[in-house]
Amino acid sequence: MLSFRNNALENLISTLSRFPGVGRKTAQRLAVHILKKPEFGAELVQAVERVRQEVHQCRRCFNLAEGEYCQICADEKRDQHQICVVEDVVDLFAVESSQEYRGVYHVLGGVISPLAGVRPGDLKIEELIRRVHSENTAELLLALNPTTEGEATMIYISRLLSDSAVKITRIASGIPLGSNLEYIDAATIGRAIQTRRDL
Ligand SMILES: [Zn+2]
Repeated sequence: MLSFRNNALENLISTLSRFPGVGRKTAQRLAVHILKKPEFGAELVQAVERVRQEVHQCRRCFNLAEGEYCQICADEKRDQHQICVVEDVVDLFAVESSQEYRGVYHVLGGVISPLAGVRPGDLKIEELIRRVHSENTAELLLALNPTTEGEATMIYISRLLSDSAVKITRIASGIPLGSNLEYIDAATIGRAIQTRRDL
């Protein structure tokens, strides 16, 4: 395989190939494109620097935010008493794209995985439990990916809330076991939200 060891181009290619889903070939194409279009390269650097400076975690739901709170938390038209729990921000984007959900979110930042060394304390679970109690949440919709770890995390959360009055539901039909919400089409996610069931 063509390699440009120890030089600037190789450094760019290997950095780009660390993107999820981007292999070395794609990384090479992107790097060459950046080289061919210097003004695009400058724009890219600026855009990356800008999000690094301006985008933070929402202090309430851990979605991406440009102020203290994200746009969804700040939106008075959203049902603030319904919380959809997702693994990652990309899953939040997937649920949003279905246009079926009008509540707010809570981004856990992963799922419990003893094999990968992810413990409950590494996730925003404690923050979620505190929210449910302090915000008087009516419904918690668990929309974690239906993997072994996702299932275990949903059970863990529901046990922590067994003494609370919150209604706990999970997205249902059409999401295949072991799949990732990020890659599921918006209509299927929309149906899974409509047909959510009690956990
Ligand atoms: Zn938020």
